[in-house]
Amino acid sequence: MSWENNVRKVVPYTPGDQPNKAGMIKINTNECPYPPAPGVQKVLAETDISKYRLYPDTTAAPLAKALADYYGVSEKQVFVGVGSDDVISMSFLTFFHGDKPILFPDITYSFYDVWAELYRIPYEMIPLHADFRIHAEDYKRPNGGIIFPNPNAPTGVFEDLSVVEEIIASNPDVVVMVDEAYVDFGGQSALPLLNKYDNLLIVRTFSKSRAMAGMRIGFAIGNEKLIKYLSDVKFSFNSYTMNLPSILCGVEAVRNDAYFKETLRKVIATRERVKKELKELGFTFPDSYTNFIFATHKSRSAKDIYEALKVRDIYVRHFNKPEIDNYLRISIGTDEEMDTVLAFLRDYLK
Ligand code: PMP
Repeated sequence: MSWENNVRKVVPYTPGDQPNKAGMIKINTNECPYPPAPGVQKVLAETDISKYRLYPDTTAAPLAKALADYYGVSEKQVFVGVGSDDVISMSFLTFFHGDKPILFPDITYSFYDVWAELYRIPYEMIPLHADFRIHAEDYKRPNGGIIFPNPNAPTGVFEDLSVVEEIIASNPDVVVMVDEAYVDFGGQSALPLLNKYDNLLIVRTFSKSRAMAGMRIGFAIGNEKLIKYLSDVKFSFNSYTMNLPSILCGVEAVRNDAYFKETLRKVIATRERVKKELKELGFTFPDSYTNFIFATHKSRSAKDIYEALKVRDIYVRHFNKPEIDNYLRISIGTDEEMDTVLAFLRDYLK
């Protein structure tokens, strides 16, 4: 007998590397290559530090209000957390408390099974179909809840809203979470379905399209009852999750919609150009609706390319998972960064 018998043992999630080298090209964790809205800098510079003496607003109310106004929902329909990881983790704890297994795709955000294990939630991973597609049919079996990203990660594949709706409509007795971490870059949001389905929870993040991964801001939108249950669990866990600078900077980012749209336009334009060039270099990939491309090469192994890029301080993501270990997930950087990457690949693949 030892104290170790009483330990909650888990296999943690492996985040992408966070190297920090001068001159590196870091396109491995789907961050935005452009800075946050300029007003964010101003907010940080001008906030009176005596404000930090006090605890922050427990519900991040100013940010919840800004998001509610932006998305045309009530404040009571918005839950704000420390990145969408925090929001999804709280949601697992809140909504996935049944006996039946929760369902999610086998190739998807690799944190889902980690949370399920952590909270001892039974789960079933549903295989994707050809071309990494999600089929609604597969989600019509007894379950305790469902989560999937749309567009999916790391594949970049987007499912039509009709597929999403079919899954939600077929599962009225459980909560269906749609993780829309990448939806700003393409595809359709499930937001228009909110009025129709009370079991739908949409999760979003400021980490990609709003260029604020370092601020840790995520949020969920759902009907008031779902948000109330989620808040009750959060308040049973940690009342003060959101720090004051994140709340204030988040509000500022939402306010500057022109900057947000311009950032999206730039990332999407670069992505479309990189798609063409990667094809010419012998890569294939499912069409991406995100800020990354999930590519495989016709003759060279993904692992070899990954290693070769790394030697040149170009970091992309490679997953050691059999079904996808011949793919690289390449985040979209600036045009200049992508030109360097493409020039290297052109030379390497000669
Ligand atoms: N969902 C998906 C699909 C993601 O790829 C990520 C980013 N790793 C997250 C959620 C979490 O992002 P964050 O916690 O930075 O909001």
